[in-house]
Amino acid sequence: MKCAYCGREARGTKEHIISSGILDLFPECYLTFDEKRGVIHQGDPMIKDVCADCNNNKISYIDSYAKNFIGRYFVKNYGEDEQVKIEYDYTMIQKVLLKYAFNDLRSRRDDISYFDEELLQYLMNESDRVPKEYISVLAGLAVNVSPAPDFMFGNLKLRWCKNPVFYENSTIRHINYETGQVFLNDECKVQTFKDLEFSYAFRFNSVQFLLMCWKKDSENIDTENIILKCQYPYTLFSKEENVATLSLCTDESNYHRFEQIHVSWDGLFEVGRMRKLATPDSAKKYLQQLQEAWKEEEKRLKEEHPR
Ligand SMILES: [Zn+2]
Repeated sequence: MKCAYCGREARGTKEHIISSGILDLFPECYLTFDEKRGVIHQGDPMIKDVCADCNNNKISYIDSYAKNFIGRYFVKNYGEDEQVKIEYDYTMIQKVLLKYAFNDLRSRRDDISYFDEELLQYLMNESDRVPKEYISVLAGLAVNVSPAPDFMFGNLKLRWCKNPVFYENSTIRHINYETGQVFLNDECKVQTFKDLEFSYAFRFNSVQFLLMCWKKDSENIDTENIILKCQYPYTLFSKEENVATLSLCTDESNYHRFEQIHVSWDGLFEVGRMRKLATPDSAKKYLQQLQEAWKEEEKRLKEEHPR
């Protein structure tokens, strides 16, 4: 086997698609839902095309950072009105998300030509601290603002996908405040970005990241970044800074359908507010009871499936 990172002939070792350290933070999510292959299995998502040296020595610093970063901020859940100030290392955030994307692409036998020698060296070389201009990273808080509790769709705290769908406009055309009727925007188009090669969405419990991989010689990245920043409820990370304030990026619908990226002014935010105001306190009580019961169940699952 040829190692996916260093290219040397060697025996393949098992490499986690998402760092094992992150999976360790969420032992209650012990099942893998592989939608692409249509299977659910008990075991971590892995690939086996990395040599022992790369896996254990060259790229493991990325996993350490990922575990500390996610463990520090995103194991806990936040309220929908909360703003969370985080400290980040931009180079490391790029490397974490690039590594996961690269792993995922290989596990799907997808095109990996974007990961050329330069990008592989960037990942393998811990002392390479110059972030890539052709990579953008955005993040927001994932908060379940929907009436559907988390467990209804499975324990999906860790999720990722290639090419999430960016909407160009609100998915809601009109709300009739007299009747509460909601009219969908049937003409809502998908936003395309100039020179975007591919993108990824990652959900790690209470945070959602967007990774944008642009053409390496593109001159449109600054403009496209402005569109991203203005159009979506995400914070754009920057190489000049090491702190960011994250706020809510999910609405009633895309908290669960995480691959749908809605615009900041999407009417669904308004629908959520309206529904909450119209919900009697007695109903809220039941939702709360259900959530409490689920917390207990998660505790039990954690004990039943130690890592
Ligand atoms: Zn190697």
